[in-house]
Amino acid sequence: MDDSANAELTRTALRTLYERDERPWVVAFSGGKDSTILAQLVCETLASLGDRANKPVHIISSDTRVEAPNIENHLNNTMNQISAYAKRSGLPLHVELVQPDPHESFWGLLIGKGYPAPTRWFRWCTSKMKIKPMRRSMDKIAAQYGSMILLLGTRRSESPERAKRIQDRALTDAGLNPHHEIPNALVATPIVDWDTESVWEYLLSNPPPWQGNHRFLYDLYRQAEGGECPVILDLSQPSCGGSRFGCWTCTVVKLDKSMQGFIESGEEWMRPLNEFRNWLKEVRERSDWRQAKRRSGVIVEGRLGPFKPEKRKLILEKLLQLEKTCNKLLISDEELGYIQSVWSDEFDLSRNAILDLCKNYDRYPNLWEDIMPMDFQDELLERMIVENSLEPELAHGLLKLAYEYHHNLDQYGKKTAFTNEISSIIERSATNAENA
Ligand code: SF4
Repeated sequence: MDDSANAELTRTALRTLYERDERPWVVAFSGGKDSTILAQLVCETLASLGDRANKPVHIISSDTRVEAPNIENHLNNTMNQISAYAKRSGLPLHVELVQPDPHESFWGLLIGKGYPAPTRWFRWCTSKMKIKPMRRSMDKIAAQYGSMILLLGTRRSESPERAKRIQDRALTDAGLNPHHEIPNALVATPIVDWDTESVWEYLLSNPPPWQGNHRFLYDLYRQAEGGECPVILDLSQPSCGGSRFGCWTCTVVKLDKSMQGFIESGEEWMRPLNEFRNWLKEVRERSDWRQAKRRSGVIVEGRLGPFKPEKRKLILEKLLQLEKTCNKLLISDEELGYIQSVWSDEFDLSRNAILDLCKNYDRYPNLWEDIMPMDFQDELLERMIVENSLEPELAHGLLKLAYEYHHNLDQYGKKTAFTNEISSIIERSATNAENA
C-alpha cells in the first residue's frame, strides 16, 4: 500500500475514534518523526471533519530545560507553528509545552542539592524532568473531563521489544487499552502498523498543515545516531538516554552518540557541551567531590552523599563559563533562584553566592525578591515602609517570619504555625500602637 492510502486509512480510523465519544484527546508530542506524523494526521483529520471537529485535542510536549539546544529550537518552533495554526484554522487544538519546575530540574537538583549526575542505577532525571511535568498536565485534563484518550506514536516495527509490548496489551473493542498508571486514560496507537520508510515517505512528500516542511527534521535524523525518544509517561518505558531527542547533559549513557553525530556533521559549537557532559560524568565518581553523609544525614557504607558545597559552586562556575563559550542560555534565572534558596538553607549565610558567581561571567539573573541579598532587601523594605506608611516593627517582623517559613511551608503543621505567628505579630503591633 502506498503512503497516501496508508494515511487515508489512519485518518478514517481517527475520524471514527474521534466521533465515538466525548473524551478529549491528548497527543504526546516529542518532536521526533513518529509523533510528528501522528500530530500531522490528527490535524488533517480534524480539518476534514469541519464543524464536527468540536471536542478538544491537546498536543503536549515536554522540554526538560536541558534539551540539546538545536532540538529545543526545533521543538519550540514546531509548537509555536502548531499553536498559530490552531488559531488560524479555528480547530479545537490546545498546545502546551511542559517543563520541570526548578526544584525538579537537572541543575536545580545537581547544583542546588548536589545530586550526582544520573546513572543507570540512580536515574532520578526521568521521573523528575519528564514524567512528573507531563503527568501534572494530564491529571488536570483528566480532572476537568473525567477521562481522556491518549494518542501515542508507538510503532510495532521500531523494535522487537516494542512489538512484544504492543502484542501483550489487552484492547477494548475500539482498539484502546487502559493506561496502567494514569487513571481514566485510554491509550490509542494510530500509527502502530506504519513502518519507518512509510513514515519518512509521507513526511517528505506532505508538508505539515501548520507551516514549512519536514526537511529540518529529516536532517536532524541524518546527522545524529540514536533511537527515537518518545514522550516518557512512566518508568516502564526504556531509558531515553542517548536518543536524538534526549538531554544534552545525559550521563546515563556511556557515550552520547547523538551529540557526537551532530558534531561530526558540522555542529562544532556542540563540542564544548559534549566535553562538559563527559566532565560531569567523570566528577560524579570522585569521592573527594562528594559528602560522606547522604542528604538524610546518614552514612551508608559504600555509598557517597551529594556533591560538597564548594564542588556545586565549581560546577555552576563551569556551566556559566560554558554559556559564555557557546553564547547560549543553559540555566534559567528561575533555576538560579531555586539553587540560591537551597544554598541559603544549607550553607550560604550571605544569600549572595549566586549573584557573586554570576557577576564574574557577566550574567545578571533576575532573582526572586525573597532570595536577594540581605542588604538589598533591607533597603527595599525601608523604602516600602516610608512609601506606604507601614509600621516598621510589623513590617520587619513579617519579613523575618517569611524567611523562617518559606522553605518548609509544605511540612505538616507549618502552615498553621505560620498563620498563628502572623496573627500574634499583628496583635502585638496593634497593642503597641494603642499604648503609644
Ligand atoms: S535523556 Fe538522559 S538525562 Fe535526560 S531524562 Fe533521559 S535518561 Fe535522564
